[in-house]
Amino acid sequence: MSHGPVIGPNGPGVIRMSEASPRRFTTADKAILELLGGDVGYLDRFRKVTTLSRQVRSSEYLLTNACNIRCEGCWFFEYDFDKTTTELKSIEGIRAFAEKERARGVNYAIIIGGEPALIPDRIAAFISVMDYVTISTNGLKPLPVEGFENVAVQISLFGGGELDDKLRAIKPGGKRFTGLFDTALRNYEGDRRACFVFAITEDGIDHIEPTVRRIHENGNRVSLNFYSKYHRDEPLRMQNAPRLVDEALRVKELYPNTLLTVPYVIRTIVTGESHWGTFGYDVCPSLSVDHPSHAARLANGNPVLPRFNAWAADCNTVNFCCTSGHCEDCRDSQAVLSWILVSLERFRESGESLKTWIEISESYWKQFCWAPYDTRSTAAGQDLGRLTAASHEAGRPAGKRVALPLLAGGT
Ligand code: SF4
Ligand code: SF4
Repeated sequence: MSHGPVIGPNGPGVIRMSEASPRRFTTADKAILELLGGDVGYLDRFRKVTTLSRQVRSSEYLLTNACNIRCEGCWFFEYDFDKTTTELKSIEGIRAFAEKERARGVNYAIIIGGEPALIPDRIAAFISVMDYVTISTNGLKPLPVEGFENVAVQISLFGGGELDDKLRAIKPGGKRFTGLFDTALRNYEGDRRACFVFAITEDGIDHIEPTVRRIHENGNRVSLNFYSKYHRDEPLRMQNAPRLVDEALRVKELYPNTLLTVPYVIRTIVTGESHWGTFGYDVCPSLSVDHPSHAARLANGNPVLPRFNAWAADCNTVNFCCTSGHCEDCRDSQAVLSWILVSLERFRESGESLKTWIEISESYWKQFCWAPYDTRSTAAGQDLGRLTAASHEAGRPAGKRVALPLLAGGT
């Protein structure tokens, strides 16, 4: 017996969830429902993500030029962002700046660096003004909990396994150390605020599964980024892109709740291709709307993030965009995700496509503890249950690669 919604004789205008409570829908809801084949559950999920998207208005703040390590491939130091401005250090000055931003309509601060965990008092100035705060950290120094309970912490990770130390465990003076990932895991064990952002690379394909497993066992979640090698001859012309995608998809199947990135996005961050086009400056929405270089881009009709600016550490200079400004090398996962999220119209071609967009959106918001998608307490248990069941499957080869259809959802 089906327990699905009942579509009335006049189409999906009135849908009976139960005899006692017939539900009425707006004209817009009816159109969405028709596309979704009458699936009220997906309509509700659609409304939830679109409502959240409308109420969150982000900008990015560098806040410090200092970092306690020197990663290979870090755009911030590769392109001398630390030298072009002087940090604003006055807490009162930073709070006043945050208030100006708030008056501009921004209510979500994405705080990057440098290393934000070195300057908790500056983060606190933003917390007192903004509704939502996320920091991006290398995980070496923990962000305190008290006073920062609802700050989402994105912990960057390059390559996985021993590659992470090879690429990142380097002190500012050049001295190498070991155990950066181990330290980050210890600092954020079971911490609901934490989500690792794991930049996968073709040199580290074999590290993907063990790295995601450790994050899973640590009670955290992870989304994928793509590691591009700045100043290399062939940064994005990879030999092993299909292998990298297949392995990431296989690991997504093993850890569907711990690994947030859905199959569609995995393909797009590695290849730069969506089902309607190629990621690049002309379509990238994560640029600073007040930067003078973007007049032609803003006029080309492709969507941008409303009111988004990336601010330098002087709290006065608007940088080009959320990352390096070197678009030819760019496969920044948050920019790619933003591109997909602002391109809802491209996903209205079918119900399956729209469901994929909804799942992508949910996977995006699940990265942040302050968003209403914090399922962390159950996510690890769900994946554990799946893995236990999978281990009983007869004859499944350990390294099997699973190719999923292009528009399959995965959360
Ligand atoms: S931790 Fe971040 S800011 Fe510091 S060197 Fe690495 S990528 Fe750059
Ligand atoms: S560097 Fe990347 S994020 Fe920045 S504008 Fe270019 S494509 Fe967008």
